[in-house]
Amino acid sequence: AECLLNGCQRPGILFSAMASVTSGPLVPSVVADAPDESRATSPSSVISRPSSQPIGDDVCETTVLIIGGGPHALAVLSALHERALAFGEHMTPAAFEHHVGYANLKRVGSVCVIDPGAGFIEGWRKRFELLGIKHLRSPAFAHPSAFEPQALMDFAIRHGREGELVNTPATSHRSGPLAAEDLQQPLLHGLPSTSLFNDFCASLASKLPHRWLSGTATGIAKGCNGSYRVQYVPSARPAAISTVVASAVIFATGPAGEWNVPVPFRAALGTPSSSSALGTPSIRHTEELFAAGTMRTVGQHRRAVDRLSMLVVGGGLTAAQVALTAVEEGHRVVLLSRRPLQTRAYDVDKEWLDLRHTNRMRFEFLTATSCERMRMLRDSRGGGSVPASYMERLRRLAATTDSLEVQVDPHIDESTVSLDKGKVLVNGAAFDHVVLATGTSVAPMLSPLFKQAQAVFDAPTCGSLPKPDSSLRWVDGEDLFVVGANAMLELGPGALNLMGAMRGAKAVAQELHGLMWTRVQKQRAAVRNMFELLAASSDDASDDASDDASDD
Ligand SMILES: Cc1cc2nc3c(=O)[nH]c(=O)nc-3n(C[C@H](O)[C@H](O)[C@H](O)COP(=O)(O)OP(=O)(O)OC[C@H]3O[C@@H](n4cnc5c(N)ncnc54)[C@H](O)[C@@H]3O)c2cc1C
Repeated sequence: AECLLNGCQRPGILFSAMASVTSGPLVPSVVADAPDESRATSPSSVISRPSSQPIGDDVCETTVLIIGGGPHALAVLSALHERALAFGEHMTPAAFEHHVGYANLKRVGSVCVIDPGAGFIEGWRKRFELLGIKHLRSPAFAHPSAFEPQALMDFAIRHGREGELVNTPATSHRSGPLAAEDLQQPLLHGLPSTSLFNDFCASLASKLPHRWLSGTATGIAKGCNGSYRVQYVPSARPAAISTVVASAVIFATGPAGEWNVPVPFRAALGTPSSSSALGTPSIRHTEELFAAGTMRTVGQHRRAVDRLSMLVVGGGLTAAQVALTAVEEGHRVVLLSRRPLQTRAYDVDKEWLDLRHTNRMRFEFLTATSCERMRMLRDSRGGGSVPASYMERLRRLAATTDSLEVQVDPHIDESTVSLDKGKVLVNGAAFDHVVLATGTSVAPMLSPLFKQAQAVFDAPTCGSLPKPDSSLRWVDGEDLFVVGANAMLELGPGALNLMGAMRGAKAVAQELHGLMWTRVQKQRAAVRNMFELLAASSDDASDDASDDASDD
């Protein structure tokens, strides 16, 4: 508030720098409309003291601002609210008090989250729904409750939903690569159903105090007294600009970058064909379909045209799901990938998940140069992969029906692609629709927000990736952090997935513990006689010992 009174809300030199790299005009950070906090409607937003405070029209002040509301953001929120983290990962509040001997940590920090959606993991939920994904491919110990690997399993047991943790050989306790002393419980290795995971996340978010701001962050500048001023466009008022003043900012935007589009398809991407009775283009990228929520429009065509022929390009889970969905809807599908489909339970090499090897893998990764890390990142992901259960369905359909054909073409980039009479011709074969399930590159430095932040803070990068330090701090001396896929130069190949979310959240929360929590002096009761006084002095001794232990 002081900052505003002192006139810091006026665009200063840093905002000028921001204006030079953002596309839109610079708008004063204080505008007349009412603030756009969606806390009343957001299912997951909860306010409790201490909370983020509006400090003027369309200006809100908070301790920590998280940009993005996906699983990684939720993991950060949960870690920030973990007061016992400095004393051990698996300590419950009761155990914490028992071991440390006093309960004198008080939360003083507040958290704001900016995301275009109405609540946590909305984008994730939509994506899973559109693709018809029934189970996660990661085990039950990977989820956004950063310090409690067993939390999702406990949630399932508490609600009688253990049956939704599906065990597969690849991740089971006996044969899987994940066995470790602290993760012996077989249920922890089950794959959670999508609805169990979503319900768990909703429950977690509802318990963690935060303020939800529905909007898209567009720029960041340095404010007064070491704070940051983040501008965002409220989802409900796209013409307005609102501001959050925060002491720390965490970029949890998910993998920012560009769509991967094989060269021959680029010119025709988004071109409508005559058979697209609904006006949909005949070559589309899955990101476009996700954004529009229209995966099912492929099905709607069936009413206009009996059976469509579709080409799905890609070799990962998304490609497999798009192909299976289209077959279910009655279309004839060719699934085309650059190399034979790979079966893998998880999205990274299994050694990165194997607790017996992870530390070695991380050590090797972190002792490599940035260039070598880039190469290791490429190698470990090794293109897309499809979990065994999906592969089985693909094989069965390809072998027993004429609805699906699985093709491999290492020379996709040399294909000839043209449009003719409402069809897309790919190497001479005619298709009504082409869906490019070719993913996106992780290149956040191409996104306006990251580009702008980099310019303002002269933040280190390597290629098109931010180069944070080991605590995921992006700029030395600044409380600016990057988590998720965009922090893969530090977190390694698993940065994108839920294990990466837990690791990143813990690193950031350790750094911000001092902003979120403070020690309070215990109130002493009035002393009535000398025996109470003696008891009080022995309390002092134990308090001192506890203080020493915690300082260590
Ligand atoms: C189909 C699919 C299945 C997957 N399954 C698994 C799985 O089973 N297990 C696993 O571990 N991993 C899985 N992953 C990988 C990973 O866990 C997900 O990609 C996950 O969604 C990444 O979370 P995130 O929070 O980093 O990003 P996102 O989920 O993308 O969330 C980022 C959020 O930030 C918002 N945002 C972006 N820019 C801004 C901005 N400027 N201002 C405000 N908000 C912004 C976005 O709108 C979005 O809501 C899967 C990925 C995909 C694509």
